[in-house]
Amino acid sequence: MNKLETPIFVTKSFLPPFEEYTHKIKEIWDNNILTNLGPIHEEFKEKLNSYLKTNYTTLCTNGHLGLEMSIKALNLKGEVITTPFTFASTTHALVNCGIKPIFCDIETESYNIDPNKIENLINENTTAIMPVHVFGTPCDVEAIEKIAKKYNLKVLYDAAHCFGVEINGKGIGNFGDISMISLHATKVFNSIEGGALTYNDSKLKEALKLYKNFGITGPESVIAVGGNSKMNEFQAAMGIVNLRYMDKQIEDRKKITYLYRELLKDVDGIKTSKDIKNVKHNYAYFPILIDEKKFGKTRNELYEKLKDFNIFTRKYFYPLTSNFDCYQDEYKNLDLKNANYIADRILTLPIYGSLNLSTVEYIVNAIKIIKKEAIIE
Ligand SMILES: *Cc1c(COP(=O)(O)O)cnc(C)c1O
Repeated sequence: MNKLETPIFVTKSFLPPFEEYTHKIKEIWDNNILTNLGPIHEEFKEKLNSYLKTNYTTLCTNGHLGLEMSIKALNLKGEVITTPFTFASTTHALVNCGIKPIFCDIETESYNIDPNKIENLINENTTAIMPVHVFGTPCDVEAIEKIAKKYNLKVLYDAAHCFGVEINGKGIGNFGDISMISLHATKVFNSIEGGALTYNDSKLKEALKLYKNFGITGPESVIAVGGNSKMNEFQAAMGIVNLRYMDKQIEDRKKITYLYRELLKDVDGIKTSKDIKNVKHNYAYFPILIDEKKFGKTRNELYEKLKDFNIFTRKYFYPLTSNFDCYQDEYKNLDLKNANYIADRILTLPIYGSLNLSTVEYIVNAIKIIKKEAIIE
């Protein structure tokens, strides 16, 4: 099998037809409003709120600042229970806000925080739980809500991967106190960079607005130490135009996912994810778990050898955030057995709406060739 001529990466940002975007941003030249919650920002907010089936949406410049704003708006302090199997942003947001992350182990099927292990970590300093719906697979939201109610804790969901995901017809952003959905260029849906915070408590609306605009309430009034995380009009315009293509994008991702699953189902040593009943998935990622004993090669070996075919996968999420160099040895020796096991064996394969089905076949064939070599050796 020949090496692919052009490299295939794990994702490819969606761009709308050029003219559609330039047509939309013409409005910016007409009214000369570039940012500061202008008319396109407001239009995007309404459209998104209805697409995501949520009560309230606050837009921000990116998902990460959205998390930090949410931590401040919810007045979180002390310790927050979270997962180490995530992108750097989740843990950094807590630490940047002066909070101690308390790492909880994950489930081996969903890769999400294990609700059965949360209660043991709660003490008088705990103010919240910050779970991540990893790869767009919803956490056990009911179990988490029960614990939060019992101990009077807030719940801030990192729903960065979850654009368009629903549970029983309910938008994912309806669970917990606030959910953050990332609109970054590499995510399922993008506004170039961007974040959407969704919530049900109207009181949060004012607090979030304060934190995203320096705490300013009037020309001579500043009542909070806020920052700047306003989404600008160019971002919002990209969001509005991209939203027109979202259903089709998710439909295409679904086809790719189903093909991968079908082609990989007889490959010993590779586990794929399944759809969950009552969940509308967005097929944001295609993670596989490699059992090196059955597959004959380790995850790292597969990752390296796929490069020879011009296929560039990602080790999401390795290393665990608790093992990052910047945290030195602070979180060493934690009991994170499952999280470590998964982080050492997970690999996400390329997936995006415009990925050809024939390329999916090529990628799976490459995996099978790499496996065969493992047996011959
Ligand atoms: C992408 C991502 C973020 C950060 O979102 P940005 O919009 O890129 O700032 C946070 N958490 C997770 C799990 C992510 O994947």
